[in-house]
Amino acid sequence: MDTEKSNGDWSEVEIQAAVDAYLSMLSREQNGQAINKAHENRVLREGALAGRTKGSVEFRMQNISTVLVELGRERIEGYKPAKNVGANVAKSIREALNAPGPVTPEDFVPTADEATLEQRAAKLERQPIKVEPKGIEKPEQTQSSGKSYVRDPEVRAWVRQQAEGKCEGCGKPAPFEKSGRPFLEVHHVKHLAQEGSDRPSNAVALCPNCHRRCHHSSDREEFTASLYTKVKRLKPE
Ligand SMILES: [Zn+2]
Ligand SMILES: [Zn+2]
Repeated sequence: MDTEKSNGDWSEVEIQAAVDAYLSMLSREQNGQAINKAHENRVLREGALAGRTKGSVEFRMQNISTVLVELGRERIEGYKPAKNVGANVAKSIREALNAPGPVTPEDFVPTADEATLEQRAAKLERQPIKVEPKGIEKPEQTQSSGKSYVRDPEVRAWVRQQAEGKCEGCGKPAPFEKSGRPFLEVHHVKHLAQEGSDRPSNAVALCPNCHRRCHHSSDREEFTASLYTKVKRLKPE
């Protein structure tokens, strides 16, 4: 009983809203919490999916289940995969699933796991960070994951925002993009292994060349010293 309007092509924003709601319900279901599908459906139609019918929102949720199953991922029990998902819709859903969802308190939690740290920093970086994060004065080393240090994702995000896409070592634009963002690596000027802090005053965003130079070149000490004059926020530790 969908009207033509409710059946029309869904925008990327609408698909993203449906995917975000779906993933939030999925994580609650996996945590053993009850989910109220009818309620979530109504909330979506009162917001991002205004003008869509209950049935078409339900059908999108089943589309998301289809794509998740195809990707070998978990789905919500109550949304049986729909059979006929258009190729364009499936593509938009896959893109929305890869896109980081809304920022949650968990994204601010320090971690020693590099992949998690980068995931959190990349998410935080999408919105301007107004206040310089405090960071961690004495990062702890974990025993488990190969002697990594616990670091603050917000420090990484903030430092890269400050660099505005340019290497703070050589001043050149990042050599390439990753996931639509300039690729710069965050380096601790006084190394963490030398008890350097994980604070903005000890971290710079560098292109891969300058980063290697800091660690391996024969002029690494002079080059490192030059960073303190180039980047005002740095404080020798
Ligand atoms: Zn550079
Ligand atoms: Zn480094």
